[in-house]
Amino acid sequence: MNNYHQNEDAGKFSWEEKEIDSIRLTMDDRSEILRYVGYSGQPLTDEFESQLQICMEKVNAVAQPRLIATLFQCEPVVVGDVIVEYKWPESLNFLTGEDIHTHLKECREVLLFGATIGASIDRAIRVEEMREPVHALLMDACGSTLIESVCDHFEAILRRRYRDGEEHWHLTTRFSPGYGDLPLEIQNHYADVIEARRIGLTVTPEHIMIPRKSVTAIIGIADHEIGEKHRSCDSCNMNAHCRFRKHGVLCGE
Ligand code: SF4
Repeated sequence: MNNYHQNEDAGKFSWEEKEIDSIRLTMDDRSEILRYVGYSGQPLTDEFESQLQICMEKVNAVAQPRLIATLFQCEPVVVGDVIVEYKWPESLNFLTGEDIHTHLKECREVLLFGATIGASIDRAIRVEEMREPVHALLMDACGSTLIESVCDHFEAILRRRYRDGEEHWHLTTRFSPGYGDLPLEIQNHYADVIEARRIGLTVTPEHIMIPRKSVTAIIGIADHEIGEKHRSCDSCNMNAHCRFRKHGVLCGE
């Protein structure tokens, strides 16, 4: 992992992930972009295809993917000689609600990350809103697709590292503030904890992330297989262009 350093707090490690800097949209992302604009199978004109291509290129030209992550070690609680649960460090107590506790209950490590494709894409979309609203719509969809792609690639890189490490650890799926009963209101403190400013990611008093095409998410890491089962690739709509399989792993593996 790049720029990996230990923080002052014991059991907390942070790094900026450089391996994702070069991620850009490819034709494999086309179907997801179309899904974001509400495409439902109608014939596409040559003019639309050409606008889509132009917008993908515009987004790729200004995107600056960056990602920062912090890893927390949890303390095993042992009764007899059996680990009954893992105790989070106090600095994670801001993660409230039952759902995140259920999601992470078997995990020895908890990873918080923030990712963004930068502020230039927001500016480029605003310019297009005045000039060419269809382009603005398509670029917005391209930006949403690209930030998800960045997160998928990062998750796949992590899955590969943990799976291929000596201990063959397992990862949960991603869980973001705003999912289930994990409140969106924690977003500001979350950003402070991972030092999101270092990648240019800030949160407004209304808990909105700036730049807009940004994501925060939590992944648990366990030293044994966890309850989540890998879904079937055969019935997955990512089957033909899966970002996980490109890295030699499966989602939810
Ligand atoms: S690994 Fe399989 S199920 Fe998971 S996203 Fe890829 S194609 Fe879909």
